[in-house]
Amino acid sequence: MDHNLRIAIIGAGPAGLSAAMNLQKAGYSSIAVLEKSDHVGGKCCSPSYHGRRYEMGAIMGVPSYYAVHDAEEFGGVTHDGPELMRKYKNKEGKIIDPFNPKKNPLMIPHLLKTKNQVKKLGELLETKYKGYDVNGHRGVAQGRYEGYAASPAREKVSGVNENLKDLTLPFNEFCRINGIELAQDVWVGPYTSFGYGYFDEIPAAYVLKYLDFQTCMNFVNMNLWTWKEGTQSIWEAVDRKLDHPARLNSEISQIERHDGKVYITVNGSVEEFDKLIVTSPLDSFGTYADIREDEKEHFAKIDYERYDSMAVTIKPENYPEISYYIFENMTPERRGHLMVYYRRWHDTMDAPITTYVLRNHRGKNLIPYEAAKKTAINDLTVMHNPCEQIINESAWYYFPHIFAEDYAAGWYDEVEEMQGKYDTYYAGEVMSFGDMDEAAEYSYELVQRFFQD
Ligand SMILES: Cc1cc2nc3c(=O)[nH]c(=O)nc-3n(C[C@H](O)[C@H](O)[C@H](O)COP(=O)(O)OP(=O)(O)OC[C@H]3O[C@@H](n4cnc5c(N)ncnc54)[C@H](O)[C@@H]3O)c2cc1C
Repeated sequence: MDHNLRIAIIGAGPAGLSAAMNLQKAGYSSIAVLEKSDHVGGKCCSPSYHGRRYEMGAIMGVPSYYAVHDAEEFGGVTHDGPELMRKYKNKEGKIIDPFNPKKNPLMIPHLLKTKNQVKKLGELLETKYKGYDVNGHRGVAQGRYEGYAASPAREKVSGVNENLKDLTLPFNEFCRINGIELAQDVWVGPYTSFGYGYFDEIPAAYVLKYLDFQTCMNFVNMNLWTWKEGTQSIWEAVDRKLDHPARLNSEISQIERHDGKVYITVNGSVEEFDKLIVTSPLDSFGTYADIREDEKEHFAKIDYERYDSMAVTIKPENYPEISYYIFENMTPERRGHLMVYYRRWHDTMDAPITTYVLRNHRGKNLIPYEAAKKTAINDLTVMHNPCEQIINESAWYYFPHIFAEDYAAGWYDEVEEMQGKYDTYYAGEVMSFGDMDEAAEYSYELVQRFFQD
């Protein structure tokens, strides 16, 4: 590969900055990261309140976040944030301890069954579904795996495994055919409450590539990473170490690709590049680019979650002791209700609490933003932690993904075939998963696959 290639990257979130970092490490010197907002980090968004940063977007990681670890090393930061602690409440606001057999003696047979099914899922993933945890989705619908192992060394792995086709099924169906329905009770906490949709609509591949067995157990055992200056600080640190930091406030009005060149109109001026890496939402790529028929057809199938976060202040006398999860609100019927509220700092009550709500479910009406906001505020009162004031709120374009039928029909293999076709490469969450590590890891692998000699 010619290291003088001029490469444009759209978006300065984890995917775009990870692509830039890995291209720089690979010896490329002409890289432009074009970011439309006035800051880097994308959905790693850590604003300040009274001198301390809180999280509106990404909060946590796990020790197997190897791509995030690369970013930490490059930027010279580490996961030095406050310990995460949580308890559970029912929808009436009563504290419960649903997984503790001592607190739920009548549930012991059920809890034992759940434990056995979780163990069985772990064994199935190691054996029947070997290769399931490779980053990205290449080959899954064809019963293959191909990529890099989920390990610090990222050895290249590939193989044929017909069983992987089961991962195209919605996760509840995947659990049913394997006789492990109760495992969903454990996976739902770090899945649905984190805004990634409901198990009757989301292909198992997404659920299990993100919450591979080890990662899910890390969530269960609270073996988690946070960052004192917020997840945004990881990407700010990476950006500072780039030879060409992201160009903020870049408004792209047009992209034209012809004769082996990419022409991008940025803030009114046309700039010429050789290659383009898109990490911004692909379903809106056509609003500014000369989108081709095959791109249009595939990108139109992308859906996303309507996941809202809100930062609120709460008076000291009403302040929550800890973060709370409300399992009963993690069902499609209760969409629009508060699923989690997060207390980040334990040494002060002068810090916002953040709330999380999911509003959509396929085939059901979308709860309007304002209605869900009202419900979340009301839920805080029901939880005995009434809101004093809303200080920040955001409706995110969250977890872009495709549905089971398109996954099974080969969407990913078709889009992977298109990589590089129009001097354009597709990265960002939809190509892997909507967490900062999977998105960054995909960019690492994209550079290995297409930009290394
Ligand atoms: C509430 C919430 C909680 C989360 N919790 C976690 C968590 O605990 N752990 C975890 O790992 N992940 C978490 N995530 C998910 C994680 O933040 C994302 O998956 C990750 O940031 C995706 O990276 P990305 O670069 O693909 O996309 P993004 O982070 O969305 O970045 C895309 C960038 O592209 C820019 N952009 C968009 N369009 C254009 C354009 N036309 N031109 C130029 N620039 C453009 C955007 O401004 C943005 O900066 C959470 C996210 C949210 C919102």
